[in-house]
Amino acid sequence: MIGQTNILVIYTGGTIGMVQDPKTLSLQPLTFDILYKYLPVLENFNCRIDFYTFEPLLDSSNMSPSFWIHLASVIEENYEDYDGFVVLHGTDTMAYTASALSFMLENLNKPVIFTGSQLPIGMVRTDGRENFINSIEIAAAKDVDTPVVPEVAICFENKLYRGNRTSKLNAENFGAFISGNYPILAEIGVHIKYYDNLILKPNFKKLRVLKELDENIAILKLFPGISQSSVDAILTTRGLKAMILETFGSGNAPTAPWFLEQLKEANSRGIILFNVTQCKGGSVDMGRYETSASLSKIGIVGGYDITTESAVTKLMYLLGCGFSAESVKQLLQTSLRGEMTV
Ligand code: ASP
Repeated sequence: MIGQTNILVIYTGGTIGMVQDPKTLSLQPLTFDILYKYLPVLENFNCRIDFYTFEPLLDSSNMSPSFWIHLASVIEENYEDYDGFVVLHGTDTMAYTASALSFMLENLNKPVIFTGSQLPIGMVRTDGRENFINSIEIAAAKDVDTPVVPEVAICFENKLYRGNRTSKLNAENFGAFISGNYPILAEIGVHIKYYDNLILKPNFKKLRVLKELDENIAILKLFPGISQSSVDAILTTRGLKAMILETFGSGNAPTAPWFLEQLKEANSRGIILFNVTQCKGGSVDMGRYETSASLSKIGIVGGYDITTESAVTKLMYLLGCGFSAESVKQLLQTSLRGEMTV
């Protein structure tokens, strides 16, 4: 129908659609038909809403790159038929999936809005109802014919975040997410206030979906007292191609000779070392302190203000694209989808 807005809701699982098993008291996923019964208001929207349900439904702790590829493929197959997409997803790994999708969907010119909830939709005080309804409205929003939010975003508790800038911050509060280094894209009150200057602009090019992800990466989170054997164990992981070094503050790490020697040796074996801060706000600034200058000399790449979630998925994507190590290092320091401030 000309002029009609069509939204595809992709239900992957998560708390939003769960009910309590009366016997075990654990939360288990609902089918979409039942979930839909809790939201009759969806029928009043001025757009057509269709559904695609993952089989089986997943607690997001069971998400993996193969599911990200499945999700990207569903969006690709339906891209021409819909104006926007809403992905219902568990909150635990939502920031990883949203980050992964932001890299995999090159030339995305339509909204892909992730949402979920802290309380199941069947519960009286659920936050799922608002999150779901707001997400549909945002996915359908257009300025004349152009979508208002042509990027991967997370809609949660009256805020819209860039997907690859978020982290899950709180396991209980309705405000579960933080975007420590990038402002929100929209604020949801009586009206939805979009901050157009912060939202990515469409490029009107054809969507390209990259479906190769290389999982040969690892994260080494530093802590005072980290042992030589545990660093060694990670760096000698079979098949390892890249490691995220989660550093202190503005990208700092111990200067103990054994530690630097191990990193130097890994770098000389061609392992890409990516410096990402453990802080939820602020940026890696290699060279600001002596404790990061030594990392720079070894050839470690600084990740500016990228989140760990984004770093993991960007590395899987870049390695999956088959770029040389030198190109990967260069692209790690380039903002591809607004994931970092260079
Ligand atoms: N464990 C759930 C999940 O991530 C939590 C949630 O949805 O909030 O699937």
